[in-house]
Amino acid sequence: MAQLPPDVEEDECLPEYRYLFCPDLLQDKVAFITGGGSGIGFRIAEIFMRHGCHTVIASRSLLRVSMAAKKLIAATGRQCLPLSMDVRAPPAIMAAVDQALKEFGKIDILINGAAGNFLCPASALSFNAFRTVVDIDTIGTFNVSRVLYEKFFRDHGGVIVNITATLNLRGQVLQVHAGSAKAAVDAMTRHLAVEWGPQNIRINSLAPGPISGTEGLRRLGGSPARVSTKALVSPLQRLGNKTEIAHSVLYLASPLASFVTGTMLVVDGGAWLTSPNDTKQLANFESSSAKL
Ligand code: NAP
Repeated sequence: MAQLPPDVEEDECLPEYRYLFCPDLLQDKVAFITGGGSGIGFRIAEIFMRHGCHTVIASRSLLRVSMAAKKLIAATGRQCLPLSMDVRAPPAIMAAVDQALKEFGKIDILINGAAGNFLCPASALSFNAFRTVVDIDTIGTFNVSRVLYEKFFRDHGGVIVNITATLNLRGQVLQVHAGSAKAAVDAMTRHLAVEWGPQNIRINSLAPGPISGTEGLRRLGGSPARVSTKALVSPLQRLGNKTEIAHSVLYLASPLASFVTGTMLVVDGGAWLTSPNDTKQLANFESSSAKL
């Protein structure tokens, strides 16, 4: 049985780390990570930096990314540039990418991790709420990919990993907004892989299952008892952790995956295959009314 890589619940670096991949796997590469200041994105930044990479971590809150960058630099000794940027605002993305290129002279890897989510039945979801999730998850992913393409990847090649989800694979209740938005990102992954492959750009999606120590699980998982019941029916009978997701993203972003493009890697311990869709949960939202 493979040993589970340790993790910590908070947005803190790992107190110790045992290398499974070669420590210089991303030596002197530069990764631009949206949503890199928290949760899964933070751990991706840390694991990349532990493998020799410099990072740019970008999200709306400058305070959040600045605090995260301090921790990441202290733990890994690599460079990390924190930038404030909303993935919905192309001018802000262009300015951030310019700043990153000025600082590092190149960008090799883009991780599209920024997203927003909440539980809501379709019947109570406002038009604006649905649009906002699509704006951040889907259009935001396109915006950042398009800017990176224009400013660097078209002429130098590159790697993109889009963080998606398994929600749309079985039409999960209370998640029509996020499931639709992430499904569109998976489609975008295939379209861009086909169009940009000739420029030596690889693009893949990574779909995590429920991951401990994340805002995603805190918001969507329900009570600890409910989370552990759900985890136990999945094939590996547990939640995943952020380090496991980061290791899979590291694989996709590295030369180990040099012939892998246009695909989706599900990293969920097999959960989507066996977890029952909790339609009873809809009853808890019966009184919710649609805000148009
Ligand atoms: P998280 O910590 O809330 O990460 C989301 C990040 O996105 C935050 O750092 C947030 O920072 C940033 N963000 C949100 N809106 C943005 C915007 N408009 N522009 C720029 N940045 C924005 O959540 P997480 O649970 O670790 O999730 C990370 C990724 O994994 C997401 O793509 C999520 O859909 C996916 N995922 C998570 C799970 C899970 O179990 N946690 C399962 C499946 C998929 P600011 O607030 O500072 O902007």
